[in-house]
Amino acid sequence: MKYYSTNNPNQSASLSEAVMKGLAPDHGLYMPERIPVLSKEIIDKLPDMTFREIGYTVIETLFAEDLSKNQIQELVDHTLTFDAPIVKVEEDIFSLELFHGPTLAFKDFGARFCSKLMSMLVKEKSKVLRVLVATSGDTGSAVANGFLGVEGVEVIVLFPKGKVSKLQEMQFTTLGKNITALEIDGVFDDCQTLVKQAFLDEKLNHKLLLTSANSINIARWIPQCLYYFYAFSRLPKNGKKVVFSVPSGNFGNLGAGILAERMGLPIDHFLAATNINKVVPEYLKGAQFQAQPSISTISNSMDVGNPSNFTRLKALYAGDEKLFRRNVKGYFYTDQQTVKAIQQVKSKGYTLDPHGAVGYLGLKDFMQENPGFLGIFLETAHPGKFRDVVEEALGEKLVLPERLAAFLEREKKVIQMGKDFGEFKAFLEVLD
Ligand SMILES: *Cc1c(COP(=O)(O)O)cnc(C)c1O
Repeated sequence: MKYYSTNNPNQSASLSEAVMKGLAPDHGLYMPERIPVLSKEIIDKLPDMTFREIGYTVIETLFAEDLSKNQIQELVDHTLTFDAPIVKVEEDIFSLELFHGPTLAFKDFGARFCSKLMSMLVKEKSKVLRVLVATSGDTGSAVANGFLGVEGVEVIVLFPKGKVSKLQEMQFTTLGKNITALEIDGVFDDCQTLVKQAFLDEKLNHKLLLTSANSINIARWIPQCLYYFYAFSRLPKNGKKVVFSVPSGNFGNLGAGILAERMGLPIDHFLAATNINKVVPEYLKGAQFQAQPSISTISNSMDVGNPSNFTRLKALYAGDEKLFRRNVKGYFYTDQQTVKAIQQVKSKGYTLDPHGAVGYLGLKDFMQENPGFLGIFLETAHPGKFRDVVEEALGEKLVLPERLAAFLEREKKVIQMGKDFGEFKAFLEVLD
């Protein structure tokens, strides 16, 4: 299968090129040239299959031309090491819990798949692959944990000193092995600039094999469709139509749901639920798409004013705005509404995180306007990851899951560095 650039359909790449480059040379996003469809017989059989069996079937349908059966099995086994259960929150409303992985957020799925696929693709090259990641928190932890112990790959995480929450920081500064954390005396943008400068430096790129594993990479994007298949197969539908509500920032997660639908999964509607960074909901209500500076909120992993995967959504609808706006409904909420949702749902016995709360609110509003649906929202992070916000909303302490608490006991190891490229370059130059 070839992958084309959303900026130019004639600009295409192999799977390996698309994964190693991340972004197309013309700065477009890669998309599969064709979307293969699963037969109705297979869709009907999903309820009898395990998560891994479903994963294998879907990944084989997409990657059979490029990977062997063994490679596909290895990829799926490495990715799906934890469950994504659905939990009933109230009548006809379910939570899809995507936070049972190592860093307690849905990004674990994409990061694990990406790491394994990169290590397979780099094997032929006999050089160590170095993944550079600038992070303001979540991406660094998901990528570092996804790549931990993966052969042939080293991860270098750059993070701004004092600007990342302690809990997030501990998830990528205590791992050791093939993960190195650089504490940069600057802000997030400085970290990102350093990474960009490294990619542009000819001498470095001649010597080292550098890549980025950022969130627009197809190897992080595509595997996110797997849990839509799995969740759909487990829902007690009883003839009802199904709507998925996706709390969104860069819109990769929502795009992966639409990919699942295009592959034959009969999802009736999607909801694009955001905080007040609402450019996509406004577009869906009929406005022009207009990027905005991002605004800080309590659901901060969705504070995105210029969502990078929007062009991917448009590509999935092949420019048919009418169909796009019919299938995907937009909703946005303030922090105050988000806090209220956390409180209300707690009284029903379920604890939401601020991102899941936004998804829940979208679902409630849609279902009020459209009776007779079965609704499911994606719970994208464990509430313990946003402990300050949730504890304040509920007026009680949260019990941190053991694997999150365990990070706090480990020893932090970082290399301190200024924001000047010379120092970073000198650090990279001595690697072999
Ligand atoms: C990254 C993230 C999101 C947003 O996902 P997109 O795919 O960028 O839309 C939502 N919730 C949490 C907890 C996240 O970490």
